[in-house]
Amino acid sequence: MTNPTEDTRWMRAALDEAVEAFERGDWPTGAVLVKDGQLIGRGQNRQNTRSDPTAHAETDVLQTAFAVHGADAARGATLYCTMEPCPMCAGALKLAGVRTLVLALRHATLRRTDLGHYSFEAFCAMTGYDVELRENVLEADYLALRLRWGRDPVAPTR
Ligand SMILES: [Zn+2]
Repeated sequence: MTNPTEDTRWMRAALDEAVEAFERGDWPTGAVLVKDGQLIGRGQNRQNTRSDPTAHAETDVLQTAFAVHGADAARGATLYCTMEPCPMCAGALKLAGVRTLVLALRHATLRRTDLGHYSFEAFCAMTGYDVELRENVLEADYLALRLRWGRDPVAPTR
């Protein structure tokens, strides 16, 4: 179910999480998990503050949702994430049963070179992950945060 207003509202919440992570000195990514119109988890990148390279916004949001709502919390849920998930997080979303993924920004837009031929769609095709993908929600707002951060492999050009 596509609702542009809802997508913008929840992506704004994910963006708020990304700003918090940025201001704390972590990578500027944020995510929120929504099920049946309710927010069931918030997540931020915490890899610097936790000294844990796997502490991504997506793993963080899943863990917070599981802690409160149980292991099936994310089944059928929608994840709003400011950045396209990395391969590790794509696997976590599949295991958790997330059915819809809404993104602000893609790796290709940042011209990242550290992920080879990976894309979220390629992961889904390889692993049989059936997920609905929507993208470019508040992309310009999030790009502005990435520019403030200034540490992308290649700076965004638009
Ligand atoms: Zn990740």
